[in-house]
This record gives sequence, structure tokens and C-alpha cells, in this order.
Amino acid sequence: MRIGILSDGPDLSAYLAEIFNTWGLVLYEMVGQDLISEMDPEDMPVVVCPASQGSHSLVDYARRGGTVICFLPEGPLAEAAGLAYEGEKDVPLRLRITAYQASGIAGERFPIVGRANNYSPAPGVQVLGYFSYTDRYEGESVGVTETPVGQGRIVAFAFDLALCVLLLRQGDPNLAEVIPEGTGCARPSSLAINIGPSDSGWVPFADLLSRLFVDTVRRYLPGPVPLLSHLPGMAPGILLYSGDEDNADVASNDAEFECVAAAGGRMNLYIIPNRTKSTVSDVERYRVQHDVGPHPNLRPLDGCSISERLTEFERQIRMFQDQFDTPARSLRNHCTAWAGYLEPVEVMEKLGVGMDGNYFSGTYGYGREDAPYAAFGGAMPMRFCWPDGRVLNVFQQHTQLADDIMFGTADYSYRLSPQVFVAVLDRIFTDIETRFHTPFGVCIHPGNWVRFSRPQGRELLRQANERRFPIWSFDQWLTFWEARDTWRFNGMTRQGCRLQFALEGERSHDALCLAIPAKDSKTSLVEIKLDGERAEWQTVRRYGEDLALVPVPLRKTAISVSVMYGSSAKLVLTTQDFTEK
Ligand SMILES: [Zn+2]
Repeated sequence: MRIGILSDGPDLSAYLAEIFNTWGLVLYEMVGQDLISEMDPEDMPVVVCPASQGSHSLVDYARRGGTVICFLPEGPLAEAAGLAYEGEKDVPLRLRITAYQASGIAGERFPIVGRANNYSPAPGVQVLGYFSYTDRYEGESVGVTETPVGQGRIVAFAFDLALCVLLLRQGDPNLAEVIPEGTGCARPSSLAINIGPSDSGWVPFADLLSRLFVDTVRRYLPGPVPLLSHLPGMAPGILLYSGDEDNADVASNDAEFECVAAAGGRMNLYIIPNRTKSTVSDVERYRVQHDVGPHPNLRPLDGCSISERLTEFERQIRMFQDQFDTPARSLRNHCTAWAGYLEPVEVMEKLGVGMDGNYFSGTYGYGREDAPYAAFGGAMPMRFCWPDGRVLNVFQQHTQLADDIMFGTADYSYRLSPQVFVAVLDRIFTDIETRFHTPFGVCIHPGNWVRFSRPQGRELLRQANERRFPIWSFDQWLTFWEARDTWRFNGMTRQGCRLQFALEGERSHDALCLAIPAKDSKTSLVEIKLDGERAEWQTVRRYGEDLALVPVPLRKTAISVSVMYGSSAKLVLTTQDFTEK
């Protein structure tokens, strides 16, 4: 059993695949249009069709019992889905899911940007969610629909979900090099696309929207399907800790390092190579407990061309690597100075930098929103992608909090006292632990740590420990994410109550777990076997679903997994029978 992603490029099929990777539904395969007509819905129960694709053969596949999940359907697909096209819809919109619980959402609406259509549904079309405008009462229309077609169905999103997630997470390409007055340089924060009134900044809306897509696919698969857990071990959340060195002296670095290590954590220090006071031997010492990465300073080139800034960006990354004889794994720029749209990411990809930390939440220069997911709604690491569908092999990890912005004295700061921050952080971490299960990325500068942000920094560490969130550096997180990225579910079959598949990957990681649904309609999980051996699991609740977490065995590249569901009453009886004999 596999999930098909129709790929007849140029389209966002690779970004849809990246969404599957992000949430660990690594059971998909790219398929060409020509294969659809012979596709057996038993082998491939769901086919995902990117926007601007579609054909008669997809409609036939639905009639034969398959589920087609599509975006902005046109022509025969729209006709079979019972949707009459009535023009494009103005964005931004809000999407309200009405038919089922959307993971992580408790009454909030999804901001929708990019392309959306007005459809009028024929009788028999089930509406799963509605669009509304952010500034008007009138104009509600269908946002997500399900239509029975023959023995199968068509599930249609009235917007381009992949493009929407991309634009929310990465910002609007039309805003590249637009610099808000008085802010000095181009920054990712200035790229944030207009989502209308900011009612969603307390929710990682872009990521929960991508999760909504994954859950939609899962709903139409026959029976429960495992995921690769996106968090280390049994953790319900994770704190990603970093600090930009700027002009800090070695003693300030050591003061913060010591505190993070004492809390059982590890942090990244981002260093400006031609400005640092840390010597080669200091950095060697830092790296025993922590990680270092470059902090390229593009500010002296404010006003220079994109290509001049990119050349300097590359030069400083190389300088960092040469100076400290260590690869640049993740990075953040000084003042998050940027160039163009994704051009700096192209440079990172070329140099093998695996993770970017430049996208700060917040609305610096054009608003005063300090909610943790304001502006981008992103928290999960996902690869960057050009709007034409070209995915870049660099993970975009948003940073939700910076000490100068939240606790500093500058006019742009929100100036939260330590007392106020205790309650704010409690809200953020409660939501992560119980609803979102997404990372929380922070930048606490060592120079600020010794001047004003130590109390709030210690509070971050304390609350993370209290909730059993691991405290990891960005590099450490990247290593986990790169290892996880190599694993796939192959040859999945279901016979009665037994689900079997091969778990295949290239890189082991001791925190990598399988997340197996603990329930299958009326039955429960009774046994998990890895390579024929019974495995222990721990049941956790994630997004309202009970999941059994099982560590992926180390030093193996292929593991046969067998999962058995049954009625627990029956199981007790069987044990009794066995004892009596
Ligand atoms: Zn800096």
C-alpha cells in the first residue's frame, strides 16, 4: 500500500512530498499521469493531485474506489467533484474546519493566502470546511469538500494548500528587498505575507495547515498507518537553543554555556568570523559541550546589490569554516540581514549548510505583534522551496523568540519583565505540550545574557526541564532531522488485524521513534514485532490520538515491522485458556 503524488511538473508535488516527510508519513511515491489509468486502488488507496493537474483518468481511478485529494480542481475533476467554478477569491481568507477536529486547532482559523477559488457545490457534496473573509461578513464559500464518485471519492481543497504553506512559512516573493522604513536592511521578517488581522500568532498555523493535509490523507487510508515521530524519544515538545555572539567576550559566552549545560542542554553559538573575540582554542573548548556556526554580518553592505551581499555571505561562511576547521551546519545572520527571497538559501545549499535560523517570528518594522508564531506561523523544520516547485536541501527552522526583541530596552523591544514572561512562556509551553508538539526556537545572546536576559533565559531552561522538553542546539536538531529524513515505509500490507511493512533507512539515531496508532476502529494495539522480536512501547497522546512510540533499533538499515490489533477482552481470555492448559 502506498500513497501516490501525481507529478507531471512544473508543480508543487515535491513540496507536498516534503510535507509528508515533515510529519513522518513516509509512504508515498511520485506517479506520472500515464500510470493512473492502470492504478489499483487496493495498492494505492489515495492519490494526491497538485494544483493545475488533473485528468479523466483520475476521475476513473476514483470511480474504481480510489480517493483523489486535489487542490483548485478544474475541468473533469471539478465536474466529478460537483464543484462549479465561480471565479477566483480574494486573499487573505480564513479557513474554518467544521467536519472534524483539525490537529492542534481549538477554535482558531487557518489564514489562507496564495490562490483560492469560489466554487458552488452541487447537492450531495459534503462540506468539510468553509472560507470566510477577514474583514467582511458576506462572502462565505466552501473551503474543503468531499464528494462520493463511483466507489471512491474526490476530496477538494478550494485553495492551493502547498503554495499557501510555502508562502506563509517563507513569505511573499513580491516583498523581496522591500525594507520597512527605518529598519536598515532587508530581512526575512519583512517578507511575511499579509494574512490580515493578526488573530493567529499564538498558533503555528502554517504547520498545522500542512498537518491538516497529512491527516486528511490518513483519514482515507484503510486502517491506521504509522508515522515517523517528529520529536526525539517520548518528548512532547523540544526547546531549540541558540545565541548570537555579536561582540560578546569569552566570559559572557562561558556564563551562558555553563547555565545551559547545567540544565542538561546544548546550544548553538553563532559567531561573526571576522569580529569574534573567541580564539581557535576557545571554540575548541566550546565544542566539547555545545555547537558553533557562522553568524555572517551583511550589515556593512546595506544598500549593495543582492549579488554583492551573496558573495560576502559565502565568503564569511567559508571564513568561519577555515578559521575554526569545522563545517558550518546551521547558521543565522547578524541582524538577520538577508538578500532577495531564497537566494541566500541557494548559497547555503551549495556550501552544505543544512539549516537556516534566520526567520524570526514577529512583525518588526510593520507591526507590534509579539506572539510566538506571528508573521510566519512556522515552527517545524521543512526544506525551502521556490514557488516554481524547486526544493532546496536546506531546512528552514523558524526562531520564535529573541531576547533583544522580547526583553531588551530598545524601542523595538516588547520589554517583557521576567515576571510577565513566566506566564507567557507557561502558555506557550502548555500549548506545545498539549496541542502543537512543535519545536520552540530561541536566540539568547551571551552579551544580553550577562546584561539583562539571564532571568528569562533561566526560566526557559527551567520550564523546558519541568515539561521534559529536551534542550537541543540547532546543529543537534539538524543531525536528528537528517537521520530521520533517510527512513521510509516500504511494502506495507494489511491482512485482517495485522499490518506489516519494512522500515528502511540509511542513518540510525538513538532518539528516532515510530509512532503507531494505538487504536483501530473497535480494536486496540496488542503486539508490535521488530524483526520478529516483541517490542515494548509507550503510549502517548498527540493531537487527540493515542500513539504507541517505539524506538527504532540502532545500527540497522532495514527492519521488518509487524503490528497486531485485537480486542483486549479476547486477549485476556486467550491468556487464561493458555494458563489453564
Ligand atoms: Zn548578531
